[in-house]
Amino acid sequence: MHKCNRKHQLAYELGLKPEGTPRPFRMGDAYHRGLEVIKAAGGVDAAVAESVRFYDEPPPPFMTQFDWDVERETVAQLVNGYAWYWGNRQASGQLLPEWTIAEVVANEQVFALQLEGVDVAGKIDGIVRLGDGRLAVLEHKTTSDDIAPAPAGKPANPYWLRLRIDGQISMYFAAARAMGHDVRTVLYDVTAKPRISPKQIPVLDADGKKIVVDAQGVRQLKVKKKKDGSPAAGDGEPYQTGDAEKGWTLQTRVETPVEFGDRLRADIAERPAYYYGRQEIPRLNSDIEEFLRELKADKHALEYFRWKGIWPRNTQVCTVYGTCEYFKLCHNGWNPSDGVPVGFVQIQDVHRELNLATEGATE
Ligand code: SF4
Repeated sequence: MHKCNRKHQLAYELGLKPEGTPRPFRMGDAYHRGLEVIKAAGGVDAAVAESVRFYDEPPPPFMTQFDWDVERETVAQLVNGYAWYWGNRQASGQLLPEWTIAEVVANEQVFALQLEGVDVAGKIDGIVRLGDGRLAVLEHKTTSDDIAPAPAGKPANPYWLRLRIDGQISMYFAAARAMGHDVRTVLYDVTAKPRISPKQIPVLDADGKKIVVDAQGVRQLKVKKKKDGSPAAGDGEPYQTGDAEKGWTLQTRVETPVEFGDRLRADIAERPAYYYGRQEIPRLNSDIEEFLRELKADKHALEYFRWKGIWPRNTQVCTVYGTCEYFKLCHNGWNPSDGVPVGFVQIQDVHRELNLATEGATE
């Protein structure tokens, strides 16, 4: 079930993790904290404050303060937008009953149990009562994938199609039932990460005018004279656009994190369906039976690899979801007798969130 058994060995058998928290996990964790407050009816301001609390600390060594502040703004705007979008849709009755959260029955259900004799562990984001009365597993995700529904007449978005056979969803569903929750379906609630980033914007003078300079850095002003040589309308006004032929350039600077956050908030307001998606993902008994068969087969395969001391690489997936965090180790022929490699730490709690089925597929 793991896409690469060598990766399983490095991550779960040896407990090797890259130093620092990778961005997807860090952003995902911060975002989840905000959603927990919203689900507990704590209010949007409290949710945003909770989600960005993590960013009050100095940035990790591999990040600049600027990138850290941009990430903080991104999380804050996504949490704010989530509360606004789903709150409005639910309050105005635009949401299908089966996509409406009528009651949060249980929040953050951590589990470590056996399914058909196989140890599984993880964390279910919530058990909720839907608007139509059914109990459901609630799963929040952030993703870099496109989640927007396909236009009418076009093939369905594969992001949502894949979830119909997603093993992690089946595991959470089966685990919820094993814990005594009579869940009937899964409500999958996804937020797409922004694809916009801080951009260059014009530098403005005290009057709010743009600044155009020549190759020597001299500001360019319009010269408009009447026939008698006296100033005409617009004389002395600063040019507002550059001119490549004349070597004139518009002075620019990069947006501040707050300016970027404002632009992101406007983008969320303009096209919320790009950022937020929610669908029911059904699970039939046959889906769970198939998942359990796969789980057992995966267990037997891992036992075999452990017994043989061989962990086959699957080099077809090294760069499928970005570059694998263990790529340097595999590329340099690292082996366990070399000791903990530079840039990695060895941890004891390897099952931070056991994710047997969709490792790397979602963030
Ligand atoms: S770099 Fe490739 S072969 Fe090595 S662990 Fe990652 S996915 Fe597997």
